[in-house]
Amino acid sequence: MSWNEIVPDVFSRRYPQDDITVTVVRGTRGLLLVDTGSSPTDAALIDADVKQLGEVKWVVNTHAHYDHTFGNQHFAAASRAVPIYGHHLLPAHLNDYERPRLAAWRAGTGSEPPRDWHDVIITPPTRLVHERSWLDLGDRRVELIPLDRGHTDSDLVIHVPAIDDSTGAWIVGDVIEEPGPPMYGSGCFPMRWPRTLADVLDEIGEDDIIVPGHGRTVSRAFGVAQLAVLESTAALILEHYQAGHNVDQALADQDAWAQPAATLALAVQNGYRELDEDDDLDLPQLR
Ligand SMILES: [Zn+2]
Repeated sequence: MSWNEIVPDVFSRRYPQDDITVTVVRGTRGLLLVDTGSSPTDAALIDADVKQLGEVKWVVNTHAHYDHTFGNQHFAAASRAVPIYGHHLLPAHLNDYERPRLAAWRAGTGSEPPRDWHDVIITPPTRLVHERSWLDLGDRRVELIPLDRGHTDSDLVIHVPAIDDSTGAWIVGDVIEEPGPPMYGSGCFPMRWPRTLADVLDEIGEDDIIVPGHGRTVSRAFGVAQLAVLESTAALILEHYQAGHNVDQALADQDAWAQPAATLALAVQNGYRELDEDDDLDLPQLR
């Protein structure tokens, strides 16, 4: 594995740990690093690999999940004090989901592969992003776009606009999953996710390159195909909800789902909660 320059001065690299994809944007003022891995050990490895490209001056988290944020402490350490940007709801998500998850893993009651979770100090972003904003990297600017609810309530995409006749890049975290199917993890919003992704895809050019939080870079067409899967899942959740089925009954309908039912327990559970509680849910989005 090595850095892959996907468009000029935008580099991505895949790591075997969680198959995470880390992205770096290079400007004349320094490097912007997107996501920090699942531990300070991961982060130190990423940091060492990044040195061949320059010095990290900014970090951005695409969302709160542990495999994207548990390396934050490495960059936030007093000796470095790199500013870390993230969605304004990211700290709450860390407290509600990642902190209990870490405690379970430390106690040996979680289901993750054994790692030294004792080294992890959960470290929220130091710069909270409430609205679309720009970071000035010197010879180029990148746009930070906090999203509405989707893969989590803390998703943020990074838009690297095209320079001259190059193409633009979109670093989207797990709002798009490669190779797929979409990952319905802790704190997901399956009923809202399709609209959130559709809004992002509306802005992405046909030739732009998308970097998901795991796996390979993909095209806009891949995102459109994944949107159809998300829409199908949301529609079926609604159907079972309206039929009065409980979660187990809904999942028993194995062949109807667009992805293996075993991957959808949280999708149905959280989707039902949205349907119960979210009065503003835009049901006509379900085709
Ligand atoms: Zn995630």
